[in-house]
Amino acid sequence: MMRGMIMISETNSFTEKFDLLGCIQCGRCTGGCPVTVRADLNVRRFVYDAYNEEKLDELARLAEIWDCTTCNTCAVRCPKGLKPLEVLLALRSMVVESGKVEPTVRDALQSVLLEGNPWEKPRAIRCDWMDGLDVKMAEPGVPVENLFFVCCTIAYDPRLQIIARNMVRILNKLDLDYGFIGTDETCCGSEVRTLGEEGLFEMLIEDNTELLNSFEAKRIVAFSPHCFSVFNTYYPDLKSEVIHYTQLFDELVGENKIPWRGELQKKVVYHDPCYLGKLSGVYDEPRSVLQKIPGVELLEFDRCRERSLCCEGSGGKMWVESHSKKERLAETRIKDARALGADIVAVSCPFCLLTLEDALKGLGFEEEMRVAEIMELLGEVVEE
Ligand code: SF4
Ligand code: SF4
Repeated sequence: MMRGMIMISETNSFTEKFDLLGCIQCGRCTGGCPVTVRADLNVRRFVYDAYNEEKLDELARLAEIWDCTTCNTCAVRCPKGLKPLEVLLALRSMVVESGKVEPTVRDALQSVLLEGNPWEKPRAIRCDWMDGLDVKMAEPGVPVENLFFVCCTIAYDPRLQIIARNMVRILNKLDLDYGFIGTDETCCGSEVRTLGEEGLFEMLIEDNTELLNSFEAKRIVAFSPHCFSVFNTYYPDLKSEVIHYTQLFDELVGENKIPWRGELQKKVVYHDPCYLGKLSGVYDEPRSVLQKIPGVELLEFDRCRERSLCCEGSGGKMWVESHSKKERLAETRIKDARALGADIVAVSCPFCLLTLEDALKGLGFEEEMRVAEIMELLGEVVEE
């Protein structure tokens, strides 16, 4: 994982920024792009056409630039080490700068600016999920071993709040040294970046770095792979190490610190979130946690780890309407899980949970299977 990658706005021409001359037009990026099965996106073509900077305005007007989910497959597959998706994000930035974005995108960005979250919710209710729980709050200047960063989506979405609530219950049971940030916690900017709002993203980096560094945290534990990835990639001045919560729990299960109170006699298949897997290289820890849950039989998708299929939840897609009538990738994923005989599709990302669960319901498979976050499963089998 890289911290301190070059910001798009720090260099000058498109060709230099994205090393377009390095492209050998092999097409591996488009060949691996999962959205090509349901949208017209041809990312290789954009890498080629963006070399002619006179064409950039025209390219920025193409609807396909919003089809990219930023799954990173094209970057993983590129033999020249290019990041084709960044060309698309830079074109989105041009659209944002021109002010001609979809109202849903505009509102999400404005909400981040005004309330610190993209869900148009007041900052004041960011911690309502804590009601009735004994939550330890971190204080600036006071050392804390594990500083938790909740994520806007988990903090506000009633379906996802169970992730944070289970975490607190288990942390209290384990008597771990931890602290939460509270209503000062602000969007990490992952989706702001992928929606192309570079200026707001830079502002968030500055403000969040100052806030997070004000705590004497040994490490920051992110609930969402998006916060985890963006902190490790775009926040060069953070003082603390940043880990994903599945890495913390991998440590805890490895040290036999988890007090199991029951079993989960289920066949579970793990879906790798792009931002934890392909973008960050964290594949083993979530599997190791699931494998340690008594009773669990862990299955594998054929398309797993770096070949994992994207759920289409990232890259700002929560705010951009897809006009394709073809099968959603999340539906393909659920069908694959069903064919494997899985009882549970386990995820470790809020967006994956929302998209896969929506697909499961749309397909009418709720009676046979469920989609669950790993923290949700842990809450069912760990003593509180
Ligand atoms: S994979 Fe890399 S080198 Fe090949 S066409 Fe795509 S951007 Fe160019
Ligand atoms: S990031 Fe994923 S969706 Fe976007 S162009 Fe690359 S492969 Fe396609």
